[in-house]
Amino acid sequence: MRGKRQEVHCSFCGRDKSEALVLVAGLSSHICEICVEQAQEIVAEELYGGVMPAAPEPAEQDAPKKEFRLPKNVTPRDIKQHLDKYVIGQDQAKKIIAVAVYNHYKRLGHPPTTEDEVQIEKSNILLVGRTGTGKTLLAKTIAKFLDVPFAIVDATVFTQAGYVGEDVESILARLLQVCNYDVDSAQRGIVYIDEMDKVARKSDNPSITRDVSGEGVQQAMLKMLEGTDVMVPPQGGRKHPEQKLVKVNTENILFICGGAFDGIEKVIARRMNSKVIGFGSKNDKRIEEEDMLKYVTHKDVRRFGMIPELIGRLPVVTYLKPLDLEAMKRILTEPHNSLLKQYQHLFRLEGISLTFDDDLIEYLASTALEYELGARGLRSICEAVMTDAMFEMPSEKDIKYFTVDLAYAKSKLEGGMLEILRAA
Ligand code: ADP
Repeated sequence: MRGKRQEVHCSFCGRDKSEALVLVAGLSSHICEICVEQAQEIVAEELYGGVMPAAPEPAEQDAPKKEFRLPKNVTPRDIKQHLDKYVIGQDQAKKIIAVAVYNHYKRLGHPPTTEDEVQIEKSNILLVGRTGTGKTLLAKTIAKFLDVPFAIVDATVFTQAGYVGEDVESILARLLQVCNYDVDSAQRGIVYIDEMDKVARKSDNPSITRDVSGEGVQQAMLKMLEGTDVMVPPQGGRKHPEQKLVKVNTENILFICGGAFDGIEKVIARRMNSKVIGFGSKNDKRIEEEDMLKYVTHKDVRRFGMIPELIGRLPVVTYLKPLDLEAMKRILTEPHNSLLKQYQHLFRLEGISLTFDDDLIEYLASTALEYELGARGLRSICEAVMTDAMFEMPSEKDIKYFTVDLAYAKSKLEGGMLEILRAA
């Protein structure tokens, strides 16, 4: 028996194959050139207000060049003071970042003119600290302060060739994008690579694939962190043969890497305490695990699974402390744009003066700690407390003052709300 011959036509407008110039085949349908054009117009209308953006032509970009200079007379102390306005505590990390960024500019401003002249080498930084302690916030805050291209990327999306994900080179694509494909500027920028610990090789990890991938990514990053010419796919993602690549030299790019390195305290503890015991004094105090991070060294990071060559290219290692109750309370109230200040501002726009009781602030901070929600969780707790008020207040034209007290907050969080937040 002969099968029925299938008619080929555009699945959108029904045009027959003979009427169309081009009929593009999909998995189980076709589209003609006229429908493609119409679809493109719809996409342009929906996403870009009618005009489809042209793909950037990196080679032909002639955006005005920017001079990167620290504001006049700025010192590392000034940089730290700026960070203090937004980031609570973490003084050591702030100091180290302030110095590194300051020196980065010095280095850019004084390139060696002769072969014999002393060369200031860049000092890439590794930040070690639990998730939600302010690593990214530090990076973002410094970015705002500086007049230098700055990109934040996540190490977990990178893979070595052959694995699904982005090529390591696309780290630089982000930097190119933020400075409008001005290669000169990008070559003097700063990159923050988050989740660096996730590419650590773990010798006791049973997943072989993960090990190989992690180490491969570290290997791929080596040259880039040190300083070399990298061929970058300007749109990021994976390289493919027809793509135009842009050459970026990374010698003057400062890399700041961050990671939680979960469990690194134990590694430090083992080293520190065995040392103390090794000296033989029974009276030497064992250092509490909580307090361990401040003793972090390259050795510990290496034990954790970072390859020595990569660690060598991150000469500065510093830490961010776990946040305690006091820090959480300060985070709620002190930063320039703290959560509670934001609610007060929103209410002010409605003509309402909003206040928070002290014991409420204590309760919010301790609840976030108790439910292990961290500083990030403060936001969800506050939202749960404030949503009803934000819903009602704009309709209540006569209300001029509103105080959030402990009883009000507790009433909003009862009924398992905190368990829901913890599970989220
Ligand atoms: P991570 O260390 O995981 O990069 P983030 O910097 O993303 O953590 O912190 C998450 C959020 O928690 C921040 O956006 C900020 O609101 C708050 N936060 C964390 N640490 C601090 C801090 N030290 N000072 C002020 N806010 C903080």
